[in-house]
Amino acid sequence: MKREGQIKVDSENLFPIIKKWLYSDKDIFVREMIANACDAVKKYQSLCLIGEAQDDGAKPRIDIVLDKDAKTLTFSDNGIGMTEEEVEKYITQIAFSGAQEFLEKYKDKTDADAGIIGHFGLGFYSAYMAADTVEIQTLSYQSNAAPVRWESDGSHTYEISDGTRTQRGTDIILHVSEDGKEFLDEYKLRSILRKYCKFMPYEIFLSVAGADKKDEEEKPINNTTPLWLKAPKDCTTEEYEDFYRETFTDMNLPLFWIHLNVDYPFRLKGILYFPKQTDKLQVMPGEIKLFSNQVYIADNIKEVVPEFLMLLKGVIDCPDLPLNVSRSFLQNDGEVAKISKHITKKVADKLTSVFKNERKEYESYWDDISPFIKFGCIKDEKFYERVKDIMLYKTIHDEYKTFAELPKQGDKVYYVSSMDVQAQYVKMFKDNGLDAVILEHNIDTHFVSFLEYKETDTKFVRIDSEIGEALKSEGDDNNEELIALFKDALGIEKLTVQAQSLKTTETPAIITINEYERRMNDISQIYGNMFGTAGPVSETLIVNTQNDIVKKLPALDTESQTLLCKHIYDLALISQRKLSAEELDSFIARSVQVMAIAAK
Ligand code: ADP
Repeated sequence: MKREGQIKVDSENLFPIIKKWLYSDKDIFVREMIANACDAVKKYQSLCLIGEAQDDGAKPRIDIVLDKDAKTLTFSDNGIGMTEEEVEKYITQIAFSGAQEFLEKYKDKTDADAGIIGHFGLGFYSAYMAADTVEIQTLSYQSNAAPVRWESDGSHTYEISDGTRTQRGTDIILHVSEDGKEFLDEYKLRSILRKYCKFMPYEIFLSVAGADKKDEEEKPINNTTPLWLKAPKDCTTEEYEDFYRETFTDMNLPLFWIHLNVDYPFRLKGILYFPKQTDKLQVMPGEIKLFSNQVYIADNIKEVVPEFLMLLKGVIDCPDLPLNVSRSFLQNDGEVAKISKHITKKVADKLTSVFKNERKEYESYWDDISPFIKFGCIKDEKFYERVKDIMLYKTIHDEYKTFAELPKQGDKVYYVSSMDVQAQYVKMFKDNGLDAVILEHNIDTHFVSFLEYKETDTKFVRIDSEIGEALKSEGDDNNEELIALFKDALGIEKLTVQAQSLKTTETPAIITINEYERRMNDISQIYGNMFGTAGPVSETLIVNTQNDIVKKLPALDTESQTLLCKHIYDLALISQRKLSAEELDSFIARSVQVMAIAAK
């Protein structure tokens, strides 16, 4: 025998689940109430537009009244209202979303879809997160409608009776529970409103029952036309900067911004700001606020915004996202992945256009924005493909070159990881008309490896890791006597000593360090030895056979030889890195000895 049945969901069982699990943040009920109020107003406007309702000219508004004595929070709107039938249908049938039905019914007639927030038919019940009884007073816009009152204590029963409302619209009255009494605090309520409702599309007013009404004009708590809704061509620099300051409470001005305005294949508007970096070496975390039809959803949802763009600050309004976004939902949603890809593409497009049209300006931003872009490249190879030709590399001569324009010696690009520490090497390069790029940021350690992996015919070598052919001159190389002299005087087993004729005559010796070992060290430092402990990095002392002191060394007595060899070695070390305390002590003591000789 076969029989089909219907699983019955009992509201008694459902309520505790909604209360506890639907929303992770309790304060979200405020957003839900106001989002419903906005929907109601929007619906009324849509009906007026198509002639199904008569516009009575009342300005759309939403009022929140906090009454501490009565322990109530009232959310009032002058929207569409509800008839008794509608209350039965939309409010009483949980998970039967009235918003969804409205959209279905009017989908070809109005633009309502562009502004209706609810989708799930559960938002209303979030009121029970803060209230034990919820009361509705509502009057439908329809001409012959009667006001209706509905009340339920959150159990499975409710009561419907004649209402008292005389104007079209709805009051949702929350009789605040013991659990929810924190929401009767004006300060707390204001901060919740600021968080969720700052940019909602209709004016919202908060008043406290019994409080003195001041003479001053009442001001809405929200800005109903946030900048991201304006056409980019109509926005001024000042507006972008003001919006930034106001939204992110950052005193520094942003470097530049990208105004997103997408209609197809999904709707998305927003502004992404590249913040000024206050720390030269570290990237500070950003802040991306996600909205759906001007209703705040959450910060930094990485499923929607590509991870690397989380370093930026900005707002993204994507009406196609459901309001009560849960992470697991987003992870499984193909549309969401598309949004993320699209944002990436837009960012790359904007950068490309600034690069092409305003190269000088682009260069002036580059130092600040490059960490974001490099991070983006490492995280997302597609992004790298899009921006690789517009990435700049600053040289020691303060010029900005693209990858194709990079100064190369053979297949090698020399780079400087600290202009201070490697100053001597930089000077040597400059004196000899050579060029190198500056890669000083922490991210560059990774970025250099990434570049080598992508661009296999280019090697990056740090300026202190080897002496390029361009610095060498014809002359006395591999002078065994000199090498032995230094080895004996220094007595450092693991130090390699070479003798080389260099173009520069000033410098007696240079230290080079093994590029590969040094990189491994840098990486293990960043990751706290996750990939094995940092080992010693092999050093090579290159003695310059063109230097006068070096030339004279073999003829001196052993004591002077030892003194000078050690001193030359220390000087070379100082140019390469910081001396340890011990090394510094002996260097200073020896300097005094050298001075004593000179003073004789
Ligand atoms: P959703 O908004 O996802 O549809 P809700 O549970 O929040 O679900 O609301 C259910 C329905 O109740 C809404 O779709 C709407 O038809 C009706 N409703 C709720 N609040 C109001 C209101 N302030 N004015 C008019 N109708 C409302």
